[in-house]
Amino acid sequence: MTHGVSAGNGSSRFVVVGCGTVVPESDRACSAYWLESGPIRLLLDCGPGSLQAMARTGLPWHAVTDLALTHFHADHTGAIPGLLFALTYGLLPDRRIEPLDVWGPPGTAEFFEHLSDAYGEFVLDPGFEVRVHETVAGGSNELGTEVALRTHSTPHTDESRALRIELPEQTIVYTGDTGPSDSLPGFCSGAELLVCECSLPDSHAIETHLSPGSVARLAAAADPEILLLTHVYPQFRLAADVPRLVSEAGWPGQVELAHEGWTRRFST
Ligand SMILES: [Zn+2]
Ligand SMILES: [Zn+2]
Repeated sequence: MTHGVSAGNGSSRFVVVGCGTVVPESDRACSAYWLESGPIRLLLDCGPGSLQAMARTGLPWHAVTDLALTHFHADHTGAIPGLLFALTYGLLPDRRIEPLDVWGPPGTAEFFEHLSDAYGEFVLDPGFEVRVHETVAGGSNELGTEVALRTHSTPHTDESRALRIELPEQTIVYTGDTGPSDSLPGFCSGAELLVCECSLPDSHAIETHLSPGSVARLAAAADPEILLLTHVYPQFRLAADVPRLVSEAGWPGQVELAHEGWTRRFST
């Protein structure tokens, strides 16, 4: 497995767009992540504030080819109408013609129909094709010829999913929102980068979110090269050294706290 700053014939990159929670914060958008590999420009979740964060971090938001959703909570989906509105009218006098593939859990097609009813026809008919694919947990989906997207149910909402993106030489897993799960470590294993929620302190651990103890157990079983903590409530993050708590809870490997613009490049 190779990684590092790209050299030679191509590169992939993962960029944190938004790593916040439902709580409004001045320095971070709600959940959104950008993964680029070859012709694929994949946005993982599209929470409030993520369009402005893509602009701040210099990401080519207008070139997005795929949108993958973990679940329908507003902090993960709230900017979808704005994204489609921007793709419809934000490029004038040019118009986008490339299709957008949307990958989401069961209910995604109905979710987009409701958005269209509320915001207007541009949601599903923005002048280019919006292709909504409802993924099957445990199944694998091909994005282009070299990227595979796999999904796994998580204990958070009925539809919530973790996402595993397999590039030609690297694997990235994003837990989305999840509680502790016996089956999640297997789904995460072999990942070079594990983007893992760590919402709450152990003293407030609940069944639908992770805390340092459950994150450390997941990481120790999955053994990623890098553990990136995200979706940390500010009441927790601003009062504690969260990566250190995860280390002390039993994860001896590399662990970092996500911030807007955090980037990992992979050579291919
Ligand atoms: Zn969330
Ligand atoms: Zn959620």
